[in-house]
Amino acid sequence: MSSVDLELDLTDVEREIQQTVHRFAGDVMRPVGQQIDKLHDPADAVAESSPLWDAFDQYEALGIDAFQREESDLTPVQMARIQAIISEEKGWGDAGLALTLGSRGGGFVAGFAAASESPELIERYATPGNREIGCWAITEPDHGSDTLALSEPHFDDPSVKANCIAKRDGDDYVIRGQKSSWVSNGPIATVAALYCTIDGDQGFKGGGVAVVPLDLPGISKGKPLDKIGQRALCQGEIFFDEVRIPREFMVVDKEGYSDQLHSTLTFMNSFMGVTFTGVARSAFDLARAYAHERIQGGKPIIEHQSVKLRLFDMYRKVETASTYARKVSIFNNTSEDAKLHYAIAAKTYCTRVAFDVASDAIQMFGGNGLSREYPVEKIMRDARASMIEDGCNEVLSIVGAADL
Ligand SMILES: Cc1cc2nc3c(=O)[nH]c(=O)nc-3n(C[C@H](O)[C@H](O)[C@H](O)COP(=O)(O)OP(=O)(O)OC[C@H]3O[C@@H](n4cnc5c(N)ncnc54)[C@H](O)[C@@H]3O)c2cc1C
Repeated sequence: MSSVDLELDLTDVEREIQQTVHRFAGDVMRPVGQQIDKLHDPADAVAESSPLWDAFDQYEALGIDAFQREESDLTPVQMARIQAIISEEKGWGDAGLALTLGSRGGGFVAGFAAASESPELIERYATPGNREIGCWAITEPDHGSDTLALSEPHFDDPSVKANCIAKRDGDDYVIRGQKSSWVSNGPIATVAALYCTIDGDQGFKGGGVAVVPLDLPGISKGKPLDKIGQRALCQGEIFFDEVRIPREFMVVDKEGYSDQLHSTLTFMNSFMGVTFTGVARSAFDLARAYAHERIQGGKPIIEHQSVKLRLFDMYRKVETASTYARKVSIFNNTSEDAKLHYAIAAKTYCTRVAFDVASDAIQMFGGNGLSREYPVEKIMRDARASMIEDGCNEVLSIVGAADL
């Protein structure tokens, strides 16, 4: 069952892209993701010998990121439709890789670089074909959910002290402090979209977004973090010891910070919705195939009614997640009236569906489901991480409720 079966008006280009990315997801992402998942030391996942780098190269060679560029001939709606299809297929391949592969070329940092008034940033990070790797550094050792919960009273409370502060000094900003060990791509990134607090009396609300080249003096990094899921997506701290950046690198200042964070959350959560629908679909596809293969009591287990019921429940969840997440992703990427609550509903629903469907897939596989020789336990670990990633689902829901 394909991710586009319900699309009545699918164009030839869309079908071709879906099939191309599906092949890439199955032939490259899945085996590489499984290989990296089994590496004991997370440092090996980012070492020169890691298959990660070959996956980056093969992804780049596919050329599909070109469909997202502004100079493409496609309309914004066509671009958004294709983007949603690509994201779901990548999620179907491997959750961790789905999130990391698009970061070469700067990922979403490229947009901030392009919007800056710095020719240096534009040339280095916003030129198509660059091989920089971006990351989003917002959470801190003492601040996880609260950095994202912009609707809550603590957000403009100056007594809540950030761990990473930028202070104006003449024509520069000087950055001191650190970001959490959870910055995705932190260990391999060459540039950060640094969401930090600007020295003053407005708390998180008085923040800014700086594009920070990670080769500047005073920057150092922690070791890659060891975690249970999405092991192909590395995480690690970034430390700032009196790091000086020119004023133009602070692309968003206090005035624009809350709106920028609102829009970042709208964009990110929409993207997470379609990606984790793909993760759910991968668990469903594996369970469906296994149900037809596994013989118990002289017949394939799919012939047992309770197995049929379980499979259909999984199917219903995947299809509703796919339909809603795709609709939200297209709407939020094209409408001037993009809505955070749609995005959060998509992220929290689809990540939950991915976890539930992966957990059901384990049950369907019986003992084999628990074995690392079979792929479904990894998918459940990947999905579990997504309910905390980019904001715990319960905190995001509080922010979403405030947006209704
Ligand atoms: C796979 C993965 C990738 C990540 N990638 C990045 C990244 O790229 N960049 C980055 O900066 N960070 C990243 N993070 C960090 C992530 O954003 C945080 O883990 C998340 O926001 C939660 O913060 P915390 O871990 O500090 O938990 P806490 O905020 O300490 O929360 C702990 C518990 O308390 C609950 N809680 C906290 N506050 C409230 C509240 N107000 N109301 C109700 N319940 C509350 C939470 O729901 C949770 O159950 C990533 C995390 C993961 C797991």
